[in-house]
This record gives sequence, structure tokens and C-alpha cells, in this order.
Amino acid sequence: MRIHFHGAAGTTTGSMHVLEFEGGRRVLLDCGLYQGHRKEAFEKNRNLPFSARELSVCVLSHAHIDHSGNLPSLVKAGFRGPIVTTPATRDLCAVMLEDSGRLQESDVKFVNKKRLAEHKRPFEPLYTPQDIPPVMELMEPLPYRTGRELVPGVTVTLFDAGHLLGSALVALDFTEGGRRRRLVFTGDLGRRGQPILRDPEPVTSAEILITESTYGDRLHPKDEDVQAKLVELFGQAAARRSKLIIPAFSVGRTQQLLYFLNELHRAGRLPAIPVYVDSPLSNRATEVFERHPECFDAEASALFRGQSEPFAMRGVTYVTAKEESQRLNDAPGPFAVISASGMCEGGRILHHLRHGVDDARNIVLLVGFQAESTLGRRIQEKQEFIRIFGEEHRLRAEVHTIQALSGHADREEILAYFRSTGPLPKTAYVVHGEPPASAAMAESLRALGIGNVVTPAAGRTETV
Ligand SMILES: [Zn+2]
Repeated sequence: MRIHFHGAAGTTTGSMHVLEFEGGRRVLLDCGLYQGHRKEAFEKNRNLPFSARELSVCVLSHAHIDHSGNLPSLVKAGFRGPIVTTPATRDLCAVMLEDSGRLQESDVKFVNKKRLAEHKRPFEPLYTPQDIPPVMELMEPLPYRTGRELVPGVTVTLFDAGHLLGSALVALDFTEGGRRRRLVFTGDLGRRGQPILRDPEPVTSAEILITESTYGDRLHPKDEDVQAKLVELFGQAAARRSKLIIPAFSVGRTQQLLYFLNELHRAGRLPAIPVYVDSPLSNRATEVFERHPECFDAEASALFRGQSEPFAMRGVTYVTAKEESQRLNDAPGPFAVISASGMCEGGRILHHLRHGVDDARNIVLLVGFQAESTLGRRIQEKQEFIRIFGEEHRLRAEVHTIQALSGHADREEILAYFRSTGPLPKTAYVVHGEPPASAAMAESLRALGIGNVVTPAAGRTETV
């Protein structure tokens, strides 16, 4: 077989790989949005690196936009095959892709204002919310651990990746040259012991592996006590009567935070300051979480049993209206606001940062991975000046990071996972990482005993 590595190769976004089987049948793994510098992202996302019509089927590992966010472009380009994914991923995609369409629209509106002033031709948005229903029609839900033939002779089975509600490790079984083979794609590999989600399921007998490497060169702090840190920072915000600004992915991270806050609140450990979840997407995603308790781990199932709204708690306000969100800009503290996007690349969090970063009493709490050249990364690096909406701001607010909530396994956790899956694969392709992370992961996999480990550059084709 041949594998074309089109995205998330040498970087962490734009996950997109094409598998070409005997007889020329092509299967697309993920169709993620590339995120980075606006102009480059615009070009990359608009121009798919393959003919959409030549693909028979797409398998989607999970709903994060860097894995699913370019599906609308794929369908606009003529793809008509099924998009096979778990039921929870399908439901999350319905809200996430629509939101992404809205962001694409407003992003282009912003750029076009400038272009029109300069008498330049306006851009078309990559896609809009109107482009989402045709994508959803192609989605074919496949429960975990259930085989489904994708194309003649190729069967897919999805296993729980423990990374996000509905996230899947993808196993493809096929026969080639009379030989049974199995390819496993990790999508994004989660971690053991994460709130709400089950642990990643061991998928055995992979001969060919495509693995992520987001944290391939790093270890998460082992003894980081998330709840203690939340109590401390909420306490500081209460004492200083200031704002605790928490950029968080609307889907996954926000629900985990709410889960922790709910637990702390029940235990009476949380200072009574208002908490605002200011993201319409978070609110809709939370409803999807509530519809899919089949994805919960035993602890969350027990906690949520009998509760109709397991993510609701006293003191939390879900903000939907724009005006209500804007009122928070000038509202006095203390309060905490959880808003998106998680890497501060867009969304309402930008307004909260704009009105909060230059006050030394305020606290910015980062709870997820911050990719290179994002505003979130610049805040994490505590750069003295940061640009928000084209204006320069002095970053005076305190900045804290909680690593333990990361949805990605770190180097040791990835290795431990592969040790748990029985005989090692013969060949491993390392993707979805910044170059130092992928290189370190590749080195570790060689040391583990995998003979052929490749870190493909974007656009590479490998025969295996
Ligand atoms: Zn992900």
C-alpha cells in the first residue's frame, strides 16, 4: 500500500493522510483544518492536495477542528463517499463545523474590510454554516469495536482513544498480496486517568502504525494537582477581586474544567465567585456530552447517574448573547471566565484578554497545548507585548499553565501505550508534532524496538 502524508506532517494541525490500497482504492484519514499564519492557512485549506472525487471513503478519528475542520472543503470539492466516525464524533461535528463555518465567515469579513478599502478583490470564505448539512449527510456513525467494510477487502474498526468524547483509534484490516495486514492510526492519543473519558484502548497486532507525537519530546508533570491549582487561583482572584481568564477549547477541555469545578464545589473547596462559560459552542457541546454517556468512564458515569444536567452547577452562568458577553468586558471582578478559542486564535476570549491582560491583578490560566505562532503561545512565553485585534497590549496579568489536563499522551505515555499493545509494529510513521517533538518520538520508537520509523514531511508518499 501507499500512504500520502498531506497534513499534520511536521506540524500539529491539518491532519490528513490518504491510504492507497491495492487496485487504487483511496481512503482518507481525517480532513483537518490547517491553522497557522492566516495567509498560508488560507491557501493550504482552500487547495486540497488531492482530487476529492478519487477518494472512496473518509474515516474521521475525532471531532477536533484540526482533524475534521476541512471536511466542508472536501465535500465542496466533490467528495461523495461516506465519512465513517463514532456517533459522538458525528454529533460533536454538527456543532463544531457549524461554528467553524461561522468563524470562517467572520474572519473573511474582517480581511475583506481591509481589502475593499485598498480596492482589492474580496475573498470568499473557505466555507460557511450553509456548507455543513451536506457534510453531515455523509456521516456514517460506527460504534466502537464494530467492524465495517470500507472498500472491498478493507475493514475498519474504531477503538476508544481517550482523547475527546467519541475520539477513536482507527484500525484498518486488509489483505495485500495474499497477506493479512493491519494499519493503526492513533488520531490523537489520549491519556489514562483523564476526567470523564475512558482510558485509551489497547489495539493489538498493528503491522503499520501512524502515530501522533504532539508531546513526543515532553513529559507532563506527574504530580500536578489540578484541583489544588484551581482552588489556589480561584482564591487569588477572589482575594484580589480580579478576573481569572481561562482560554479553553470549547469541546473537551471546557467540560473537563466544569467537571472539576463541579467536584470542588460539591466538596465546598471553591471560593464563591461567579463563573461564566462564555462560548455558545461550549454550551452546545456540553449538551452533546450529556447525550453520550456511553463514552464516559466508570467514575463519571457514577457521578452523573441520575443527574439530568451533569455539567450544570450553582454559580456557573452559560453566556450566549453577545451583549451579555460584552458586559463582562467592563464588569468588576472577582469572576472567572472560560472562553474559546483555546489557543486564543479567535472567538470571544480575545475580548476578555483585550480587556484584561494589562491589569497585573488579573490571571490568565492556560489549560491546553499552545501551538507555535499562536497568541496563546506568546502569552505562555510571557512576551512583554502581545497583539490582540491589531493593537499592542502590555502583558501584565499573571500567567499560569496547567499541563495535566492535556488531552495528549506525553512521550512516556505513548511508549507505555505501545508496550501494552503486544507485538510491536514493523513500521511506524510519526506525524502530528512540531519537528523536535516528532524527531524525539521517532528516536524513542526506534529504541523501543520498531525497526522502521519514518517522520514523513508534508507531501511525502511512502510505500509500505
Ligand atoms: Zn485532538
